Amino acid sequence: MPETHVDPCGAVLERARALVEDRSLAHVRAWKTANPGALAIGYLPIYVPRPLFEALGCLPVALFGGGDELEIVRGDSYFQSYICHIPRSTLELGLSGHLDPLDGMVFPSICDVIRNLGGMWRMLFPDRYVAYLDIPQNFDMATGGRFFAHAMREIAEALGARGAKRLDAAALRRAIGGENARRASLERLDAIRRAEPWRLRASEAYLIARAGAGLPAATHRALVDEAVEAASRRPARLIDNARVVLRGSFCEQPPLDLIRSLEKAGCDIVDDDFQLGLRTIDGEIAVGEDEDPLDALARTYLQRGVATASRYIANDVKGAALVSRVRECGADGVVFAAASFCDPALLDQPMLEAALDRASIPHTSFKFAENNAQFQTIREQAGAFSDSVKLWGAER
Ligand code: SF4
Repeated sequence: MPETHVDPCGAVLERARALVEDRSLAHVRAWKTANPGALAIGYLPIYVPRPLFEALGCLPVALFGGGDELEIVRGDSYFQSYICHIPRSTLELGLSGHLDPLDGMVFPSICDVIRNLGGMWRMLFPDRYVAYLDIPQNFDMATGGRFFAHAMREIAEALGARGAKRLDAAALRRAIGGENARRASLERLDAIRRAEPWRLRASEAYLIARAGAGLPAATHRALVDEAVEAASRRPARLIDNARVVLRGSFCEQPPLDLIRSLEKAGCDIVDDDFQLGLRTIDGEIAVGEDEDPLDALARTYLQRGVATASRYIANDVKGAALVSRVRECGADGVVFAAASFCDPALLDQPMLEAALDRASIPHTSFKFAENNAQFQTIREQAGAFSDSVKLWGAER
């Protein structure tokens, strides 16, 4: 094949895909072999302070369920039918041994489903470390900040008792620096698809970002940087698509083929909330010279956590944040794609839609499950939406 036909992004995308599809966590096993005695700690969406775990010498591993390839045998028997799919597939992964490389699990306070799953985990895996992390909903540093720092210290002490390193301010500063560098690289990746979506499709950026779920920040940053460099060498293509912002997929993830279906239907997803945990802090985590880095982690979450469904702030603030994001991205409209029965996403959606209506920004919505296999209806709906915003968007 002539060299001009070789996709510069091919190799890095293939590596990212292998990491995303590694449901048995072989890469986590490899990390543990290379770091004897170190702990790998899984966590559910959306957010945990990853630098805390890295500072303790642990590997934080974000889990996003089982996707569309995993057969659910036992997971269904633990849950009623009218909740989302991610707890069943996560339980299936645990009961079938896929998550054995993990020494513990952290369940952040996003919704009752995750809370219940945490309780079940404690009963089903009594020898493993299990923590419920109450993310603060009071955004005052003297209250919520103190509470969050205390919760993080408790995790550090519990993991220390299981062999993790002692919490050390210098190590935490270094880990925060590593997270800031990863975050900056992810921002460069996102900037490419905002400016030139043909250079890196959303489905490709998705793979590159999600590949870091179980990688140390420095390793993931190198992968993201490689993708950014490779994308810059892709030849230009002209694609007449609608530019859309996607919201609602911060926890259970849509199947990759569903994202591709949206692209094929004429939507360039220029901004999304897939794997929001990697982007929960808006900008970098700054640590003052005399500041305890743990307080800095707490403060930054309180002050610069992105407006999303698990953050209990006024609806008009969330609506204004979405409208302003649409404008910053030069998007033509918004696609709401929430997991079926996802209470946090579906409760916020009407208020967000009202804010978009007031700003005359078109939107459409659908629901999915991580194990959906048929996308024809969604593709037709997205195609009609894309056509309509392209035809009539300029008249708004
Ligand atoms: S998909 Fe929604 S309802 Fe289900 S666990 Fe995640 S946040 Fe909770």
